[in-house]
Amino acid sequence: MTTATRIEDVSIQLGEDFPEIRESVRRICGDFPGAYWRGLEESEAYPTEFVRALTKAGFLGALIPEEYGGAGLPLRAAAVILEEIHASGCNAGACHAQMYIMGTLLRHGSTEQKKRYLPRIASGELRLQAFAVTEPTTGTDTTKLKTRAVRSGDHYVVHGQKVWTSRALHSDLMLLLARTTPVEEVRKKTDGLSVFLVDIRDGLGKGLEIKPLKAMINHHATEVFFDGVRVPAGNLIGEEGKGFRYILDGLNAERILVSSESIGDARWFTRTAVAYASQRVVFDRPIGQNQGIQFPIARAHAETEAAALLLRKAAALFAAGLPCGDDTNMAKMLASEAAWHAAEACIQTHGGFGFAKEYDVERKWRETRLFQIAPISTNLVLAYIAEHVLGLPRSY
Ligand SMILES: Cc1cc2nc3c(=O)[nH]c(=O)nc-3n(C[C@H](O)[C@H](O)[C@H](O)COP(=O)(O)OP(=O)(O)OC[C@H]3O[C@@H](n4cnc5c(N)ncnc54)[C@H](O)[C@@H]3O)c2cc1C
Repeated sequence: MTTATRIEDVSIQLGEDFPEIRESVRRICGDFPGAYWRGLEESEAYPTEFVRALTKAGFLGALIPEEYGGAGLPLRAAAVILEEIHASGCNAGACHAQMYIMGTLLRHGSTEQKKRYLPRIASGELRLQAFAVTEPTTGTDTTKLKTRAVRSGDHYVVHGQKVWTSRALHSDLMLLLARTTPVEEVRKKTDGLSVFLVDIRDGLGKGLEIKPLKAMINHHATEVFFDGVRVPAGNLIGEEGKGFRYILDGLNAERILVSSESIGDARWFTRTAVAYASQRVVFDRPIGQNQGIQFPIARAHAETEAAALLLRKAAALFAAGLPCGDDTNMAKMLASEAAWHAAEACIQTHGGFGFAKEYDVERKWRETRLFQIAPISTNLVLAYIAEHVLGLPRSY
């Protein structure tokens, strides 16, 4: 991270940044065409080979410092990796958490924790892919979460339940947010929450149960049940009670990364729609000659370019160590909406064939819808802009 003290000193590079990374990701993705992803959906399987290929190329250790065996790349490079995966028609949902969870461990983990885990995560021996925050009864109101971790000697004992924990059955480690001090006993409701690095392999069969959750897309979502799971005190990240702050610290990085996936999706939809509109002939002319077909694609393209530019600004501010929450949130909303508008234009352009699985349009259309809900919903972003950027009164 470079540090600039003023926003005026920050500049944005235009054009295709990190061209070698883009080229390399495109080459890997070329080995995983639509048929691969369709096959996985049918069998509800995990893209093990795809994740292995990305790990082997060093991309999943992109943010791990070189001293721990990673590539030590900046956040923008990780964003480019995810953008290219999605622009190639693939989906990074199976493995992106390793990138955005990483910041919490890097910034707040102890040297001992980093030495113990990071080199093995970088080599692919260990997977850090599960991030357990959301709970069934409290949803977006995170500080009300009910999962409790109570200190007992040199362990914490965890009781509670999480929902929508993606990839928990395909990960060795899980980053868990749990309450260590009851909400009635803290000064601020954001206090008293703590972050733990839970070793899933140790917990299974000893109070930890993970159940797959059937969903609209093949995202390997699960429900996670904790019934007296013992987590060593040495696996507490940072200080007890400060976990909410640590998670918040990582949210900008997470949103920049996920928005890059939206930008990649939008580019895939636009390219696919243009190609189909140019070759599909109805009424003796390509359908792309009709403005009713052209305009939604053109509009989505313009929206994508605008969102991509704001996203670059957010990433540049992040890299400079300057506040980037406003731009990150706005870019997140605009990118997810641009991708959705591109998806709608693409499926409409394909007519009935938009519903045929072999075109992959319906799969990508379902997949890109997620970004308006997770990791944060559009309403919550709008509330942030209204209250934190514009100074309107708080609604919740
Ligand atoms: C496929 C998938 C994968 C996921 N992966 C993970 C994961 O790995 N880890 C994890 O922790 N979570 C994960 N999530 C959960 C996701 O982050 C939540 O679904 C999301 O944050 C919304 O929470 P909720 O579903 O409880 O909605 P709720 O909080 O119940 O909200 C429902 C709706 O009400 C709106 N709403 C709520 N409060 C307000 C308000 N004050 N003003 C205006 N509108 C409001 C919301 O915007 C939303 O549209 C995943 C979800 C999905 C679908």
